[in-house]
Formats: sequence, C-alpha cells, structure tokens
Amino acid sequence: LVSRDAGIASSPVMVGDVEVGGGDFVVMAGPCSVESREQIVRTAMAVKSAGASILRGGAFKPRSNPYSFQGLGGIGISLLEEASRAAGIPVVTEVMDPQDVEVVSRWAHMLQIGTRNMQNFPLLKEVGRSHRPVLLKRGMMATVDEWLQAAEYVVSSGNPNVVLCERGIRGFDRAVRNVLDLSAVPLVKGLSGLPVVVDPSHGTGRRDLVIPMSMAAAAAGADGLIVEVHPSPEEALCDGEQSLDFNGFRVLMDSLSALLEAV
Ligand code: PEP
Ligand code: MN
Repeated sequence: LVSRDAGIASSPVMVGDVEVGGGDFVVMAGPCSVESREQIVRTAMAVKSAGASILRGGAFKPRSNPYSFQGLGGIGISLLEEASRAAGIPVVTEVMDPQDVEVVSRWAHMLQIGTRNMQNFPLLKEVGRSHRPVLLKRGMMATVDEWLQAAEYVVSSGNPNVVLCERGIRGFDRAVRNVLDLSAVPLVKGLSGLPVVVDPSHGTGRRDLVIPMSMAAAAAGADGLIVEVHPSPEEALCDGEQSLDFNGFRVLMDSLSALLEAV
C-alpha cells in the first residue's frame, strides 16, 4: 500500500490545516519535552512567529535511562493543547503505549511514533486505527525496507496518513549521536508516495550541526523538518545540547527561506 506504484497512501497528509507533502516545506518545531506552561506557550509563540507551522513537544518520553525525566504525561498533553491554541498551530506529540492512543488522539493533531517503537507492532496497529495522521520515525537500527514495512502496518490497519521521518541511524562514531542518512530521503521518495521529513536534532545530537543538516535535507528533497527548540537549551530537562534557542531557530528559518527561494 505504501509503494509508489500502489499509490493508495499518497501525499499530501493534512495535519490540522497544514498540508505535509503538498509542495510547501513544512517545519515542525518545539522542545524535546513539555516542561511547564510558560516554557511550552512561549516556545509555541516564538516558533510560530519565526515561520514554523506545527508545534512539537513530548509529554510521554521514551528515555533510555529510567531515572531520567519521563515527561509530564497527561498534564503535558493538556499544556500542549493550550500552547497549540494560543499560537494557532497544530501539534505533534509522541505516543508510546497503545492504551494512550485514544486519549492522545483526542488532543493532538498528529501522533509521533518514536525510533524505539518503530517495530512495536501492536502500537503501529493501534495508531493505524486512529483518525489522526502519524509521524513514523525510522528505527535507529532499521533498514529502509523495515521502515516502509512499519508504515505498511499503519496503512494496512486503516490509516493512510503517514509521514516518514529520517532521524539518523546508529553508527560507530560517538562524535555525533546518530548518522543522519540523507540519502534515505530521495531513496524513499522514489519507493513510496509518503511524505518524508528530517529530524536534524536527533540526527546529529549537536546544535552546531542542525542548520547545515537542515539545509542539506531541504536540498535532498525532504518535505519538511522536525527540529528541537527550547527557550534556554542549557536548562532543558532533555536534549538541550541539540536544541536551538529562539534566535538560532530564526537563523535556521531565514537560511531555509533563502535556500528555498533560490531553487
Ligand atoms: C523525540 O522526538 O524527542 C524523540 C524521542 O525522538 P526519537 O524517537 O527519534 O529518538
Ligand atoms: Mn528529543
């Protein structure tokens, strides 16, 4: 169903009133985790005014270490909803448990499946039964074929609205958090009709690499980005070292506009 020839799942995907894969380059931005009302509302307003069209933020966090901040859960979802309404943009957030899909779909405009859950088949089937579009991150050790088969689980369960997200695969070199596989963008777009976005934040783990990799993603033909932005990254409870501050995010958006106008 997800293959380009079958054409059953074909772009664009609507997230609220935002079209992903319809030609416009769509930027999703916000903190790794929702930490407080002030943090998420301020970030939502800042990213919207810089040109982002979708707010990101984690409420249920898949932390490798069980003692790390686990997210605000249901409270985080309601703060996201408040921030989304204040800024007037839709929101994408991760869902980790099949039992949470129904309640998260009530408030979030898009459901994110994280890298660690790309092959959580009960979860894929459950989001496949929801009416919300799905952002399917590539598993950190998944081949392109496994990634597309994961998308097939969602689509074959009844939900054709899947956006694929390249977020880096695990390499040997700890100089970067992951190896961002930008060749996957044109490769997957050749194989499938699904839109593809890139996550340069988790893809590199380093703030200084986020803008160059975002530009490269746009040049490679991605339909958009998902980027981590925090009001004060040095104080972030999660992923501060890869988060842009508001000023950095404005520089990113200006650089992207210049690039996209040039092509
Ligand atoms: C995230 O987007 O905050 C996240 C946890 O991403 P990933 O699943 O790609 O690690
Ligand atoms: Mn993160």
